[in-house]
Amino acid sequence: SQVSINEMMELLLKRLRPIAKKRNIELLFESFRPVTADIDEVKLNLAVTNLVENAIKYNQDSGWVKVSLNADHKFFYIKVTDNGCGIPEDAVEHIFERFYRVDKARSRETGGTGLGLSITKTIVQLHHGAIKVHSKLQEGTTFVVRIPMIYIKE
Ligand code: ATP
Ligand code: MG
Repeated sequence: SQVSINEMMELLLKRLRPIAKKRNIELLFESFRPVTADIDEVKLNLAVTNLVENAIKYNQDSGWVKVSLNADHKFFYIKVTDNGCGIPEDAVEHIFERFYRVDKARSRETGGTGLGLSITKTIVQLHHGAIKVHSKLQEGTTFVVRIPMIYIKE
């Protein structure tokens, strides 16, 4: 059904802001235009939540997370950027695999199952979208999700 992506994002970030605040992480949102799209809101909400949760979790105290929403005539784009620990080059190709977590010492501290990104990728693919990641160790990570405006349910 037709969903305001702006509203979905505002609510999602409102929900996660207290978690970020606990670690003094700045959570910023920028929307370049209002977007309404035909999507499965419950699922897409979960897909983006996983990304923003990661951006907070794998960040440092007093870091930042920037989320943006943009669109052209065919797609809308949700971008999540953090200035956290980054992902090692040889690990990037594995992060969407179920139960994969980058390093065990780091993962034990943060907790989690290693399912978040695999769920996100499945949901993005269900929407006939795409997900990309750019990361640099010690500098940060950016995930970009691209979703067509029209959702064709199978
Ligand atoms: P879960 O999401 O199930 O609680 P998780 O966060 O470990 O557990 P994923 O969300 O699938 O699992 O992420 C897989 C791994 O990718 C993480 O364990 C982490 O090592 C790495 N990762 C994901 N997002 C980031 C990020 N923004 N910055 C640095 N590393 C990340
Ligand atoms: Mg996760």
